[in-house]
This record gives sequence, structure tokens and C-alpha cells, in this order.
Amino acid sequence: MTDNSKGLLVILSGPSGSGKDTVITHALEEMNGVKLSVSLTTRPPRPWEKEGEDYYFCTREQFQDKIAAGDVLEYAEYNGNFYGTPREPVEEWVKAGNTMILNIEVIGAEKVRARCPEAVSVFLVPPSMKVLEERLRARDTGENPEVIAGRLKIAERELGCAGQYDYIICNDDLKEAVKNLKAIIHAEHRRTKRQIGFVREVLKKC
Ligand code: ADP
Ligand code: 5GP
Repeated sequence: MTDNSKGLLVILSGPSGSGKDTVITHALEEMNGVKLSVSLTTRPPRPWEKEGEDYYFCTREQFQDKIAAGDVLEYAEYNGNFYGTPREPVEEWVKAGNTMILNIEVIGAEKVRARCPEAVSVFLVPPSMKVLEERLRARDTGENPEVIAGRLKIAERELGCAGQYDYIICNDDLKEAVKNLKAIIHAEHRRTKRQIGFVREVLKKC
């Protein structure tokens, strides 16, 4: 983001299949200085997923080693697999004044809120459970029906956590959802606490 504000950490959660990846991908196409954090996971890659772009795929042992080394900002178990955010890339990117988006589930989000109270959190909601189920089944991930059923079960629990978030976006119309996420990021950058340093610089030069 080409402005004078301090860095921003954005948490985006929402049930699996609500459209987090899709909305983030479109939002990133149109924003400078905004990146998506690449997580570690022990789940197997989907046919189209690339190492280091979609996830860092690893074994449980490798995952535990990263935690023990203090290299993980937060982590959680989701539907039988572990997911975690590499700490250093997030800290460095945000410290340099940029925006990092974390696509993480609700337990991890709670941990990040506790560790980084300045983080802004957004919850993406599907228009209905029926639509969510249709999207999950149509996605063609190669996952068996039990895995998808597990995701739907977790979705109900996750929807109950929406009230913990700063913002809620309904992903019915994709364009609208992308517009809303971008609007939130832009507005958060305009907050006085992120701009006041710039005002002081202007004053100094008077
Ligand atoms: P998540 O990252 O939350 O698990 P995805 O981004 O993978 O969800 O989206 C799940 C599926 O729903 C994908 O096949 C995607 O193309 C589709 N999808 C996402 N948003 C919309 C939308 N607004 N309308 C219709 N389909 C959508
Ligand atoms: P998926 O298997 O669909 O890629 O991801 C399953 C869930 O894990 C999603 O809700 C996603 O947001 C979450 N997730 C992905 N990466 C991380 C992470 O680094 N930490 C946590 N806590 N959750 C993650």
C-alpha cells in the first residue's frame, strides 16, 4: 500500500468453502504492499496446489520442530491436520509498514488476537449452509466425503465464533465481497493511530 501508514495485520477466517482463498486472490490483484501469509500444513496438497505458494507442506515431525524452535506465530489442528503461520515473514513484512493477510481458522485467530491486539479480524460468511455445502462439493479437491462432512461440521462451530471478529462479510456476490475486504483494509490504514506519525512529520517541516 503506497501510503504513510504503519503496517497492518489482517486476520481472515470463515468456514472452509466460504471463499477465503478466492476473495483474497482477487483483492490482492488490486492492492500494493499487501501479501497473503503462506502457512505450514501437514495436510496433503490438492492437485493444483504449489509448495511455497499455497502452503509449505510438511510432516508432523517437521511441524513440531518448527513449533519447538519458536518459528510459528500460531497454530491449530483442523480436521485431523495441523496448520500454522510462520512467524518471521509476517513480523518482517508488517514491521516494514506493509499489510499481511492471515487466512486462518478460529482457534489460530484467537491466538493472534491475544499476541497482536492491533490485528484487524474479518469473518467471511457463506450466504447459507446449503450454498456452503454446494461450494465444498463442487471444489473438486479430491477429498473423500468424510473429509468434506468434517469440514461442514466444523463450519457450524466456526459460525458461532463470528461475533469475536471486528468485521463480517457475506460472500454471496464475489465482487461485492472483494470490494468489502478492500474497503476494510483501506479504512484501517486511515485510522489515526496509523497516520498520526505522518502528521507529526508534516508539522516538523513547517
Ligand atoms: P475457502 O478458501 O474459504 O475454503 P474457496 O476460496 O476455496 O474457499 O472457495 C470455495 C469454492 O467456492 C471454490 O470453488 C470457489 O470458486 C467458490 N466460490 C468462492 N466464492 C464464491 C462466490 N461468491 N460465488 C460462487 N462461488 C464462489
Ligand atoms: P484448507 O485445508 O481448506 O486449506 O484449510 C483448512 C482451514 O485451515 C481453513 O479454515 C484455513 O483458514 C485454516 N488455516 C490455513 N492456514 C492456517 C494457519 O496457518 N493457521 C491456522 N490456525 N489455520 C490455518
